[in-house]
Amino acid sequence: MASRDVRRPAAAWVCLLVLGTVLASGAASAQTLPDPAWPDLEPAFAAHVCPPSENPPVARTEAERARFEMRARYRTVMPAFYAKVGPVPDALLLMPVEGVRVSQVTDTWQAPRGGGRLHDGQDIFAPVGTPVRSATAGFVYRIDDLSLGGLTVTIIGDGYKRYFYTHFDSVPGDLLEGQRVTTDTVIGFIGTSGNAAGTPPHLHFGVYAGDPWACEWRAIDPLPRMVDRD
Ligand SMILES: [Zn+2]
Repeated sequence: MASRDVRRPAAAWVCLLVLGTVLASGAASAQTLPDPAWPDLEPAFAAHVCPPSENPPVARTEAERARFEMRARYRTVMPAFYAKVGPVPDALLLMPVEGVRVSQVTDTWQAPRGGGRLHDGQDIFAPVGTPVRSATAGFVYRIDDLSLGGLTVTIIGDGYKRYFYTHFDSVPGDLLEGQRVTTDTVIGFIGTSGNAAGTPPHLHFGVYAGDPWACEWRAIDPLPRMVDRD
């Protein structure tokens, strides 16, 4: 196999530490903005400020507090991403996992999970290291190592949809937050990070919609829109 430039979860933690140092020094508090080489299609979004969450989560641990603060910082830049995408969502989502057919995906949308949670996406199984390509064009909103989700990439596409890909083993080292991606862009490699540890390696693929002006996150089922690449 050809060698590849990868970012592993440990590297993501280094990034978080660096960011934390920058924030502590007060030098900067902004998250990464989308690539300015792309025009603002809807400038009103660029100037928009997300309203406060209606039901802000209450942190029970220091780790949760840090995670919620991080989420709030990303939320401040979300409208800048909305400004760069078109209003009409992709009708079709290309199979993100190399070598897998849509017919091989077992529908687990809203299946019960531990702790009273329901499964807010679809799981696509493949060997560790299998490349994953973006199902749509869009911009990389967030690359993060979440405690539950594992190594995660979130992309914002047309129609203000957020595409959430997680449990990666690694992410290409040259994939950057704010970067424009196409359906040819490799955004990660299959793994078992986060709460997928101990399960067969897979991609968790989630899609989120909702009122963009309210910066709402509402999970929708990706499977009905998924198609094979060939
Ligand atoms: Zn899943």
